Amino acid sequence: MAPDTPSDALPAPTPADPLVPQVAAGLAKLGLALRTHAWKDSAPRGLTPTQSQVLALLQASATPLRVSTVADGMAVTLPTASDAVKALVTKGLVTKTRAVDDGRAMALALTDAGREEAQRAASGPEFVTAVVDALSADEQAAFVRSLVKMVRTLQERGDIAPARLCVTCRFFRPWAHVDTERPHHCAFVDAPFGDRSLRLDCPEHETASAAAMAEQWRVFVSR
Ligand code: SF4
Repeated sequence: MAPDTPSDALPAPTPADPLVPQVAAGLAKLGLALRTHAWKDSAPRGLTPTQSQVLALLQASATPLRVSTVADGMAVTLPTASDAVKALVTKGLVTKTRAVDDGRAMALALTDAGREEAQRAASGPEFVTAVVDALSADEQAAFVRSLVKMVRTLQERGDIAPARLCVTCRFFRPWAHVDTERPHHCAFVDAPFGDRSLRLDCPEHETASAAAMAEQWRVFVSR
């Protein structure tokens, strides 16, 4: 017999059913959409999504990177990163020269053409902007906070390379201010900021000591 009301059709989650399947299904759909759009965006420019990611990573770095750093930053294997770099060098988008601090290592940098492509790769798919814009300001802030927690968990489990998160940065002071809009403090710029501005890839990030990191995480999640 068909259910009479929506509540019959959709049983409310219980503590034993803490929304994990729904969240997992939603994340899988977002992941699929991102992968599909990554191919659609990269293919017309003759790039694979991995090559686009390498360009974006090099663009975000203040200094030339080693292939191993690129592999770590993208959480891919060294051969995968090496293949992508090789293709980008062939396309004239990346240069590979001896590292100044280690003559045995190679350093990667963008060419002018590579910088132009990287700009496009780093801007992100338009549909992501549209999806995030559909959230209210409070929902966006809560989403950023959730992303920070998820990325940190992935990092703790060893599933991704360390990311440059505020919560692992030695300059981060969680809940340092009474201002509910901007309760956290960045000691690097000496300014308060809110959840909306929590960074997931900050170029000024410096990793905190293990003890400091554990303490600021305890404080961060305490509210
Ligand atoms: S330096 Fe960057 S990562 Fe560190 S607390 Fe400030 S904004 Fe966050």
